[in-house]
Amino acid sequence: MSIHTTIQWTDGTVNPTMGCDGCPLWNRLNKRCYAGKTTRRFGGTNPGLAKNFDVVELAPGRMAMATCWRDLSGTARRDKPWLNDLPRLIFVSDMSDALSQSVTFGYLRQEIIEQVSSELGRRHQWQWLTKRPARMARFSRWLTQQGVDWPTNLWAGTSIMTQSMTKGINHLLNVGDERTIRFLSVEPQWESIDLSQWLPQLDWVIQGGESGAVDHPFDLAWADELFEQCAESGVAYFLKQLGTCVREDGERLRFADRHGGDWSQWPRRLRVRQMPINATTKHRGVRGRHVDADLRRPAFNLAK
Ligand code: SF4
Repeated sequence: MSIHTTIQWTDGTVNPTMGCDGCPLWNRLNKRCYAGKTTRRFGGTNPGLAKNFDVVELAPGRMAMATCWRDLSGTARRDKPWLNDLPRLIFVSDMSDALSQSVTFGYLRQEIIEQVSSELGRRHQWQWLTKRPARMARFSRWLTQQGVDWPTNLWAGTSIMTQSMTKGINHLLNVGDERTIRFLSVEPQWESIDLSQWLPQLDWVIQGGESGAVDHPFDLAWADELFEQCAESGVAYFLKQLGTCVREDGERLRFADRHGGDWSQWPRRLRVRQMPINATTKHRGVRGRHVDADLRRPAFNLAK
C-alpha cells in the first residue's frame, strides 16, 4: 500500500490481497504484468509483496489503515491538478487481483465493503479494478442476498486490452446499482477498440499504451477514437499514458518520458484528463469534473 503513487488517476493504492491467478499478461508463456514482475524481483524481501506472485495471500488490515488517511476534499494536488478538490482517491488492488478465485466473498466483505463503508472510509473514494468482472458481479449479487448494499463510494472497474475482452463489460454492468460509478481501464491497449455500445452505461474510461518491451505499439488514432466515443456519450475520458512505443500515421514518435506519461510532451489535442465525479456531491449524476491541459476543448456537460 502507498499513500502516494505516480499513477496519474489516483492518490494512493492499497492491496487487501497479494499475488494473482494470472491473466493474458501473466501466464505460463507471458510474464508482462508489472505487479508480477515486481513481485518476482522483490517478493520475499519486501513485506508489502507476496513471496510468490502465483500464490494468492491475504493481507487483512491494510484497508483499515488506508481508511485513516487524511481526507483530501478541497485539496490541490501539485502533480495531478485534474484531481484537485476531489476526496482522496484510492486504487484498490494495483499489485494483485483481489477477485482471484481463492479469496472468499466473506473476506472481501470484511476487508473491502466494511472498511469502505466505515465512517473513516466514507471520506474517501475507492477505485476497485479487476480483470475478473464476472466474479465481481457474483460478489455484488452475494452481497445483495446478505442484505448489504454496494457502497456508493466504491467504484467498480475492469481492465481490457482488446475488443474480445469487451464482453467482460456486460458483467461489470451487473455490479452495484444505479449509483455505482463504473469504469474501464483500457490499458495496455493492444488494438483499436469500439466501446460505443457500452458507453452510455459507463462513467469513466482510462486509456493507456504499453510500457517496457512492447509488442503492440500505441497508435494515436486509438486515442482520438476513444475520446470521440466518450465525448459522444458524455463519459469522462482520461488519457493516462501513451506507452513506450507510440505511432502516428505509421511513424514512430519519441518522448522524453519513456512511459509516455508526461502529457506536456503530447500533441495538444490529446491532453484530456477528466474525472467522473462531482467534487461537491461526491456522486455521479451531475458530474461536471473536467480538466483539459490547455482548455481548448469546451467542457462538455457530463450530466446524464
Ligand atoms: S490480473 Fe492484473 S495483477 Fe493479475 S496478472 Fe493480470 S495484470 Fe497482473
